Amino acid sequence: MPNAALPIVLNILVAGMFTASFLMIAQLNPDFRRVRWLALSYAVGMFTPLAELVLPLAADPTAFMILSYGSFLLALVLVGPALSIFYKKEPWWRAAGLVVVVGFVARLAIWGGRRDDLIYEFIYQTPFAIAAAVCAATVIHHGRRTALDVTLAIIFSVIAGHFLLKPFAASYLGSGLTAGDYLSSRYAMLSQSATGALLIAVGLTLLINVLQTVVSQNRDAAFRDSLTGLPNRRSLHQEFEAKKKRWRDEHPLALAIVDIDHFKTVNDQWGHDAGDRTIQAVSRALEGARPRNGFVSRVGGEEFVVLLPACHPTVAAVCCESLRLAIEAADCGLGRPVTGSIGWTMVTEAEDLNDALRRADRGLYRAKLAGRNRVEAEPISLVRDTRPGLRVVPLQTLHMNEADRGRDL
Ligand code: GH3
Ligand code: MG
Ligand code: MG
Repeated sequence: MPNAALPIVLNILVAGMFTASFLMIAQLNPDFRRVRWLALSYAVGMFTPLAELVLPLAADPTAFMILSYGSFLLALVLVGPALSIFYKKEPWWRAAGLVVVVGFVARLAIWGGRRDDLIYEFIYQTPFAIAAAVCAATVIHHGRRTALDVTLAIIFSVIAGHFLLKPFAASYLGSGLTAGDYLSSRYAMLSQSATGALLIAVGLTLLINVLQTVVSQNRDAAFRDSLTGLPNRRSLHQEFEAKKKRWRDEHPLALAIVDIDHFKTVNDQWGHDAGDRTIQAVSRALEGARPRNGFVSRVGGEEFVVLLPACHPTVAAVCCESLRLAIEAADCGLGRPVTGSIGWTMVTEAEDLNDALRRADRGLYRAKLAGRNRVEAEPISLVRDTRPGLRVVPLQTLHMNEADRGRDL
């Protein structure tokens, strides 16, 4: 068996496995269809070792020589745009086209030239080095600069460098007098193994990068409300627990429930889509009006919960009033303002989210009863919350009604 037959067969299998892996990810995750471009690049790359394997058996090797060179260059060049598409950036198609043209012109220029000659080998390998360098530059410019992206850029740079070292190895070890002899040469064994190992390294890093992105996007989706993009109830629970763990920095912590008034009427009069747009407008208004360290989440149909950390009760009352005013001022596209009622309370260190929600909900209930478009505070019950170690923040019940509005709190 020729020297390089085994690494070549392995390269075919490895390229095939990466093609299948990227195709599978694209198939299983509709949001990641774009990963098919990476599969395409590896699929094209499979033709290179295939052509090299068949070449010695062919009566006229010309077609296989073109196929081997062309498929490898195209595969490598394609990785750049495939990466840009993966990163959701505009691919550098022109640069890619230019590298392909330069590569083919270079290959034509040395056609029939003496193999093992340093100049010949340089002209042969340089387009591959440029293609790999473009991939490194693509990752640097279009990537997210995570540790995986940095690794990817380094590997592409090493690949670019190794193509420039290959001419020395070829002229030192000998790459066979003809293309047909290549497979039995010592150089082929080294070249195929080195390139194969680097392509596995880049393929694995790409695969981990893609899977990591899939995982974090899915995790993000599980913690966000799809209509408004706000954190959802699950996220609120997590945030609340995090605040409890950092109690020293986060207290006094206030919690407010915001509920859009007469929202059913919006749905009934303007339709469900207008209702959805109203929820979105209100969520934007709340996000715009919350303090910088505040946390706004959508926990139900037209209900939001806001956490106000490191917030004295007097400030919390003002914040809630700002939230109410922001809803009133929001343009929901209905031709009339929408209002919201707010119930809020201070959170104690020993209680859980549901305790605090129940209390704030009592404030909300009173705000609704008292005519809506109001802010009502619910005090902490000193009788109920007597567990050891409990910090009770003294709180005055604040009734925010028409007469109070605009007054200094
Ligand atoms: P109140 O002032 O007492 O809060 O009255 P309301 O009409 O706002 O309250 P109610 O809870 O009766 O109505 C809430 C409505 O919100 C009922 C439900 O059909 C609607 N809803 C829940 N989720 C969505 C949603 O995602 N989109 C839309 N458009 N409507 C929703
Ligand atoms: Mg409601
Ligand atoms: Mg409502």
